[in-house]
Amino acid sequence: MDYLDRAQAMRAQLIATRRDLHQHPELFFQEIRTAKKITAQLDELGIEYTTGVAKTGVVAHLGEGAPVIALRADMDALPIQEINDAPYKSQTDGVMHACGHDAHVTCLLGAAALLAQDFAAGHLRGTVRFLFQPAEECEDAEGKSGGQRMVEEGALEGVDAVIGMHVISTLPAQHVFVREGAFMAAVDSFDAVVLGRGGHGAYPHEALDPIWLAAQVINAIHGVVSRRKAPVEPGLITVGAIHAGKAGNVIPVEVAMTGTIRSFSAETRQLLVRELENCFRLTQAFGGDYKLKIQYGYPVTVNDPAMARFIQRMASDLLGAESTHEARIETGAEDFSFMAQAAPGAFFYLGAKKDALDRQHHAPDFDIDENVLPTGAALMANAAREYLQAHAPSE
Ligand SMILES: [Zn+2]
Ligand SMILES: [Zn+2]
Repeated sequence: MDYLDRAQAMRAQLIATRRDLHQHPELFFQEIRTAKKITAQLDELGIEYTTGVAKTGVVAHLGEGAPVIALRADMDALPIQEINDAPYKSQTDGVMHACGHDAHVTCLLGAAALLAQDFAAGHLRGTVRFLFQPAEECEDAEGKSGGQRMVEEGALEGVDAVIGMHVISTLPAQHVFVREGAFMAAVDSFDAVVLGRGGHGAYPHEALDPIWLAAQVINAIHGVVSRRKAPVEPGLITVGAIHAGKAGNVIPVEVAMTGTIRSFSAETRQLLVRELENCFRLTQAFGGDYKLKIQYGYPVTVNDPAMARFIQRMASDLLGAESTHEARIETGAEDFSFMAQAAPGAFFYLGAKKDALDRQHHAPDFDIDENVLPTGAALMANAAREYLQAHAPSE
């Protein structure tokens, strides 16, 4: 029996696991119960694991020696109040699995069960490492997400390739989407203060109006994207918040600004940050000053071309060519990017549209078609098996 049939036989169990996780969502770096649920199932399967990786993550493995393929599932939920009236709706006020990470954990546990049977039967050689990663949605006080911490703590050491899957509530169910190269954006943010000199609104020449300075800066920022960046290179800067002043006849002392920067290559990422700084230097030309703090977030998620083609072939064999598509490039971001920097990586989407409603990710009515759970488990297991077989060391 192939993985799809064997995963279908586990359908009820997979749905029960997903619903249990969905009812008990946990925020970033607080996935204590989720980790317990994972280790309980790993115990049943006789799979060895380490807990407390990246604070609340779990790393498990099957087999030994080379090659080593890693499969990743993120575990965290979001601070959103669920409005669905499903019997499995969140039981925690204000917290919800609104990105489908409950499904990712479920599918990876399903893949572990499938692969455990094959290792026990002696059908597979090499190592499958299972990365149950906390905190994809949010960084901690030190500015680090779960994926970044996992890499820093060595969870990717010795790994030959790493694979991640995301269910997508807005894409057709049971269809796979993958692309070579840059897939999801790098995300950085900035906090800035434009410094002038306060004074009377009727005597602007005696003061230095920071609102006027900020206006020059904002104009320059929007010019950067069209005039300083190559037009064929995607990237953007959005000034999302600006605060200054209290009264119409008072020139304030300063203007606070904050925004987001998105890019798809290391070069464009550096260029946008450098040019942003230049924009703020305009304040100095007029005798003002500025403070600018860049917070580097997730790097661009880049799929290794060979790994992306491997996923495309594998999914096409399992589900049919008509169910396998090229994914669009996204201005959203993923902290799988840290793992794909540590080893050749492939990130792919599994469409999971539930019904005719427009159920967006991070929305209070998010939900998925649970029929994709066996498919997700089979895809992850099949990717691992085919990778190990294709990269078996010659004897
Ligand atoms: Zn999300
Ligand atoms: Zn997500």
